[in-house]
Amino acid sequence: MNKRELFLRHVAQTSPAPLGLDIIKAKGSILRDADGKKYLDLIAGISVCNVGHGHPKVVKAIKKQVDDYMHLLVYGEMIETPQVQYAKWLTDHLPASLNSVYFTNSGAEATEGAMKLAKRVTNRTQIIAFNKSYHGSTQGALSIMGDEYWRNAFRPLLPDVLHLEYNAAESLQEITSQTACVIAETIQAERGVFAPSAQWMAALQEKCRETGTLLILDEIQTGFGRTGTLWGFEQFNVVPDIVLMGKALGGGMPMGAFIADQKIMQVLTENPVLGHITTFGGHPVCCAAGLAAFKVLLKEEIVNLVTDKAALFHELLLHPLIKAVRANGLLMAVEFDHFDINKKVIDGCLQQGLLTDWFLFAPECMRIAPPLTITEKEIKKAASTILQVLDAVQEAK
Ligand code: PLP
Repeated sequence: MNKRELFLRHVAQTSPAPLGLDIIKAKGSILRDADGKKYLDLIAGISVCNVGHGHPKVVKAIKKQVDDYMHLLVYGEMIETPQVQYAKWLTDHLPASLNSVYFTNSGAEATEGAMKLAKRVTNRTQIIAFNKSYHGSTQGALSIMGDEYWRNAFRPLLPDVLHLEYNAAESLQEITSQTACVIAETIQAERGVFAPSAQWMAALQEKCRETGTLLILDEIQTGFGRTGTLWGFEQFNVVPDIVLMGKALGGGMPMGAFIADQKIMQVLTENPVLGHITTFGGHPVCCAAGLAAFKVLLKEEIVNLVTDKAALFHELLLHPLIKAVRANGLLMAVEFDHFDINKKVIDGCLQQGLLTDWFLFAPECMRIAPPLTITEKEIKKAASTILQVLDAVQEAK
């Protein structure tokens, strides 16, 4: 069997048509496959590689940590320097009430931990989430996913979950003194980049405060500069009770986190003790990588340039087949009439060495979420490839 056949035979598959590119090297915004073909990466591993692939400072930090030590003991027992340092750096760059970090292995696990924490703190069971949101694929996170098609086959799921319309004033009336938490993406990514109004966000926070409900904001895709500010919620002038992080948090290594005030977080230490347990959460190599990437993001002034780079995409992406370009920083959705056009564009771009994708709840939209370090030249090249492919799709119609 060749490598592709082995991949299809022995690596569990969840897609009938996996991309199956055989990438052997990734640097900056460029991936190179086994045949030497180069791809310009417009999706950054789904908003993971914000500082680019293989950043030398991240690689160096990983190598150093591997030399010092890897796994020592289950989460929270040992003082592991990279973990302590990363928690300190993160909380130094968050509002004062977000001062205690629980590191997990993934975004979904951060969602799980935060929901457990909210139930434990409030002594309530109801969880409110929103239609067309995504918070992970484990059973709890799936229970709050905002789309019945994806949930249905896995029932029974968590009870006492209510799904409401995002950015709708009437939804807020459903939040009551029975509600443990409201969990929302700061900007709904998989809906095809949909931002709520600042007014709605403020009203949501207010309603949560009034009813003693915890507000959980999912920054797993919107964090780490993706939307043009370090955290997406800065743009809405709200502070969540718990924030979820993942994706770019690990600088290319697997990581998630839920972050809250220590006063809240400490309930996980009693009745029962070990209120949330993980063997590998906060792995020292992942923390070392994440911290190095975070320092790069802050020091190399990458975040400040996000808005200008997004504006350049906007300026260049003009074509009769494009219905709209929705963007929050470098989280962008290019909307077409329907999925068929999108698929042709995505396939055509791939042939031309440009890697894009669609969105879970918006198959008619093409995802553009490159490494934030993408250069002006690369943006121009990407846009010109997309326009060429669009011309070809239009001609073939
Ligand atoms: N929340 C959001 C907004 C996401 O986009 C994702 C992943 O795409 C998750 C949670 C789940 O993260 P993970 O895939 O690391 O479990």
